[in-house]
Amino acid sequence: MKIISAIEEMQQTALGLKRQGKTIAFVPTMGYLHEGHASLLREGRTRGDILVLSIFVNPIQFGQNEDLDSYPHDRERDFRTAEGCGVDIVFTPDSTGMYPSGFQTGVAVRELSQPLCGASRPGHFDGVATVVTKLFNIVQPDVALFGRKDYQQLAVIRRMAADLNLPVQVIGMPIVREADGLALSSRNSYLSPVERQAALCLSRALVRVRERYAAGERSAATLKNEALAVIAQEPLAAIDYLEVRDGATLEPSQTVDSGTLVALAVKLGQTRLIDNTIVGEEQ
Ligand code: AMP
Repeated sequence: MKIISAIEEMQQTALGLKRQGKTIAFVPTMGYLHEGHASLLREGRTRGDILVLSIFVNPIQFGQNEDLDSYPHDRERDFRTAEGCGVDIVFTPDSTGMYPSGFQTGVAVRELSQPLCGASRPGHFDGVATVVTKLFNIVQPDVALFGRKDYQQLAVIRRMAADLNLPVQVIGMPIVREADGLALSSRNSYLSPVERQAALCLSRALVRVRERYAAGERSAATLKNEALAVIAQEPLAAIDYLEVRDGATLEPSQTVDSGTLVALAVKLGQTRLIDNTIVGEEQ
């Protein structure tokens, strides 16, 4: 496994591989890898001749008072995980290389970036769309894999790839959860033991929604209230948003069908966690 930090070297390596007729599968991450990332890497391994992982904590997708400076990291462990998943190249650029002085270009996916996490984190998805565009241009992937854990991010990237005719196949992967239901996240490491227990209210709320949908409930308002009631039972949880939306357009839904998205963001102390489900989809 090769570790490349220089942007130019990564791009030249990728272009050279492409000239040799190799296909490149790509998994972009912010590091502190867990089983969710590993599931993307294992799938990526089957999708290309060369598997590239990037680790880059992208400053322009963090707001002023967010956790950019405290974002967890353990590069040695990440490299071991990557090696175990068959990664060929780990790309670890630095911020000054990615955003040298004078940098002023951005990519914005206008409508899909507005609701849900975009409303609580203004500018977040512009930062995501911009860095993913840069990473795609540097890594030259044929296939790129993203988790449905970040459902809106996946929707934004799919739209961007289609709108800008990017020659990349974007693949969405299932949410990987702990045995008790908590969606894996690098940010789970911020949780105290009591917050970790309280964090189960996110997945519990989604399970309740799925059960009520399976039992025939089709009112978005009713399902939303059911989910809110589950969160309300947890005194440590503060809701950022809980929304019932169309899974394709992210527009509000009044009635629910198999493609309806229920997405939520909840704060436990200082830690903001997200989770979601498509009600009619197998999990
Ligand atoms: P991050 O390092 O948090 O930016 O995540 C990198 C990629 O891993 C994104 O495409 C995420 O959606 C994906 N990911 C993170 N957590 C999970 C999870 N629990 N299950 C599946 N994919 C995940």
